[in-house]
Amino acid sequence: MQHFPIFLDLKGRTVLLSGGGEAAMAKLRLLMKTEAHLVVFAPEPSDEIVAWAAQGLLALHPRALAPADLPGAALVYAADEDAARDTRTAELSRAAGVLLNVVDDLQNSQFITPAIVDRDPVCVAIGTEGAAPVLARAIKRDLEERLNPRLGLMARIGKAFRAAAEALPEGRPRRDFWSDYYFGEGLVALDAEGETALPAALDRMLDRHLASETSAGRVALVGAGPGDPELLTLKARRLLDTADVVIHDRLVPQEILELARREAILVDAGKQGFGPAMTQEEINTLIVRHAQDGHHVVRLKSGDPGVFGRLDEELDACDAAGIEWQIVPGLTSAAAAAAGIGQGLTRRGRNSAVRLLTGHDVKGFAEHDWRALARPGEVAALYMAKRGARFLQGRLLMHGAAPETPVTIVENASRPDEQVIATTLAALPATLESGDVAGPAILLYGLAPRARATAAAPAPARSETTLKEFA
Ligand code: SAH
Repeated sequence: MQHFPIFLDLKGRTVLLSGGGEAAMAKLRLLMKTEAHLVVFAPEPSDEIVAWAAQGLLALHPRALAPADLPGAALVYAADEDAARDTRTAELSRAAGVLLNVVDDLQNSQFITPAIVDRDPVCVAIGTEGAAPVLARAIKRDLEERLNPRLGLMARIGKAFRAAAEALPEGRPRRDFWSDYYFGEGLVALDAEGETALPAALDRMLDRHLASETSAGRVALVGAGPGDPELLTLKARRLLDTADVVIHDRLVPQEILELARREAILVDAGKQGFGPAMTQEEINTLIVRHAQDGHHVVRLKSGDPGVFGRLDEELDACDAAGIEWQIVPGLTSAAAAAAGIGQGLTRRGRNSAVRLLTGHDVKGFAEHDWRALARPGEVAALYMAKRGARFLQGRLLMHGAAPETPVTIVENASRPDEQVIATTLAALPATLESGDVAGPAILLYGLAPRARATAAAPAPARSETTLKEFA
């Protein structure tokens, strides 16, 4: 970070600007939003600048900047769009030790003015150190769309209420109150009745929040999807954003965990390495204990929480403790695996049903209706099936499945290191043994990759899509 972002208080400070053309006007329009004392030096000022001076928005001198002008100034802008004049302004300001910006000249500037999204008093500044102005503009456009234009108005009215809101205990109760204001009841009141309704709405909300202030904990059992952060649901994102505690599985990648609120406690319930993973009993206890402490707990599971996720055991534990819960579905890895090989999980005329099977259950390798699965055209997504591959191959062949039935191994579906290996039922165990399939994998039984999505073609890095949007 070469440029350190700060918000400078310009109230009553002097800002000097040399220039009277387009570049000068662009900077002045921005500077006139501040409470700075603006002094412009321009032998030939534009009509607009003359008009602004007449309105008392700035002081105008129809001459060049001189050494005596500089002492006491906070900032200097060299905006003449003329190399010789800008160099002179730069020399004068350097000699006087005043911070300088040369418009559109990063090299010779000591500070730069970022792109901003202005919802005064909320102001978002975007800087790219001059590396990618296109990116800054794209981010600005995105934020302009996303941030309600009346956010500033709400913030100004809200600010006057901050002292009153201190009647609520610090932490979650106060945060909930303000979220309710900005994104819930406050916004509704503004939409329905306009700005004048906001103070009354704030009073009403405060009474209600004070009355219900016991702040019970609750649990959300949330699907994190197969690994690509862009495949998270909006609801999952929102819950991660507000969680006090996130208890996650081993398969949830770091990029997704980073979306959790900065102050949230992260607990890895699938820790491997130094010790064994937590038992289900321990996980249940942990979830319940945090909720009983009044926390909002996100139990984050890979894929969909209801697919081989031991969901019921955790719900039972919450019910037994009288804790409120909700389930937020996620994209199961079989869906991502099928997408990765360019196939549908069902297809008219091929398979009108799809099974989700586990390779092993609590008793060991899992038994299934092998006879039904062995019929031509059947499709199944096999989870946790790497170790049990030889077992299930034996069962299926024994029940009459064709040895050439396609099986596609999709490892790390939806992640940058996704790997697709096409094989057959006959060759499955050998393929798994010879291939390097260390990550989580789905075996798609009865599905071969569409011709162009074969093992040879490396999976595209998922983040490419986002970057392209900015290019
Ligand atoms: N609830 C999860 C499944 C949990 S069981 C879901 O809905 O996807 C764990 C198994 O899921 C792994 O052994 C593997 O078979 C599969 N799995 C999870 N993430 C995966 C991924 N990104 N790619 C392939 N398989 C994955």
